[in-house]
Amino acid sequence: MNRKIPTVGFVSLGCPKATVDSEQILTRLKSEGYAISGSYQGADLVVVNTCGFIDAAVEESLDAIGEALAENGRVIVTGCLGAKGDIVRRTHPKVLAVTGPHAAQEVMAAVHEYLPPSHDPFVDLVPPQGIRLTPQHYAYLKISEGCNHRCTFCIIPSLRGDLVSRPIGEVMKEAEALVDAGVRELLVISQDTSAYGVDIKYRTGFWNGRPVKTRLFDLCQALGELGVWVRLHYVYPYPSVDALIPLMAEGRILPYLDVPFQHASPRILKLMKRPASSENNLDRIRAWRAVCPEITIRSTFITGFPGETEAEFEELLQFLEEAELDRVGVFAYSPVAGAAANELPGALPEEVREERRRRLMEFQEDISTRRLEAKIGRTIEVLVDEVDEEGAVARSAGDAPEIDGLVYVTDGQELEVGEFASVTVTDCDVHDLYAELAEA
Ligand code: SF4
Repeated sequence: MNRKIPTVGFVSLGCPKATVDSEQILTRLKSEGYAISGSYQGADLVVVNTCGFIDAAVEESLDAIGEALAENGRVIVTGCLGAKGDIVRRTHPKVLAVTGPHAAQEVMAAVHEYLPPSHDPFVDLVPPQGIRLTPQHYAYLKISEGCNHRCTFCIIPSLRGDLVSRPIGEVMKEAEALVDAGVRELLVISQDTSAYGVDIKYRTGFWNGRPVKTRLFDLCQALGELGVWVRLHYVYPYPSVDALIPLMAEGRILPYLDVPFQHASPRILKLMKRPASSENNLDRIRAWRAVCPEITIRSTFITGFPGETEAEFEELLQFLEEAELDRVGVFAYSPVAGAAANELPGALPEEVREERRRRLMEFQEDISTRRLEAKIGRTIEVLVDEVDEEGAVARSAGDAPEIDGLVYVTDGQELEVGEFASVTVTDCDVHDLYAELAEA
């Protein structure tokens, strides 16, 4: 009974997709009887899940590996940086093993090799929803891995491979387990959510004995039956997305779309090789709003892509003026090692890329503020994230965790984390809303 339990430390870096990889590895570790340590010293070895997307992320990941080696000495590396040639081994030759992203199997094999599991039934207890790194009331639901596109600024397909959709029955089973465990908001993620099922020709799967196609519309319909918030990320503006908007208008899934447009100039979109680049996005946005006026549209853009002229940048500002998007994230173009866009002519100096990013942000601020001001006086539903003596910090249907704004409920001290509440909006700033509990 006094046998020492093999203990693993875990460092998780990177995007929500990497977080889901971490959760899967942690779940496997727990289910095999490993303990998880919150400190380097308490662990027999450390797994570092890395990000390799941009240079800053590479630096951060290499630093994290260095720290784990210095503090613990036995380190297994996984994640996107592991797929980037031999940079990890060159920088840190002492690591025990290196795998790429989405490699729970290989990580477990390495853990078994360097720290065999103890077969103790008393530590074999894992909650059915697995181990999660997000708060208890929301969870990411990864529906596929990889991507069939080849956007010229991106190296994700070379790191993660082509699209592989998870069977819909498996996704729904996971979603149900999460809801049973108290999750109130499911955030659907992948590299290209609209393409869900394309690789397996929308194969029919089964959920609770019922046939369901592996297709985004069918998935949204099924998720809409679970009685929790369902939020869609990384959706490209294909015509097939139009069919989802009535589900939003009927309240079955959240009226929220995260659509990474990246640019508005047809020439730049073509150079970027963006999915759905020939669609008329303004018409599509107008049509979505006609069906579901409540919809929140979030997007991201890149300024200073190689060859972008001042006129093309202004075309992007014009698009923003007309599209009136609710939430916008902007990145100055940053050359990622290995990306095809680095070979394009007309690379712009960093000051220009950065100056355009600043101009776009300032331009969008007025638009975002106007969209939020229109909510003042309205009563909306929010999900509570935190509570303290100053009130509650919550989010509305228009706010995804970590990337969008917040709703500060100034008299929400009695609310509970994970609770839905009805509030009346009293004020706003550029990103956030201020509200009070609505009259019963
Ligand atoms: S859609 Fe483009 S940006 Fe997104 S993962 Fe695929 S290649 Fe990269």
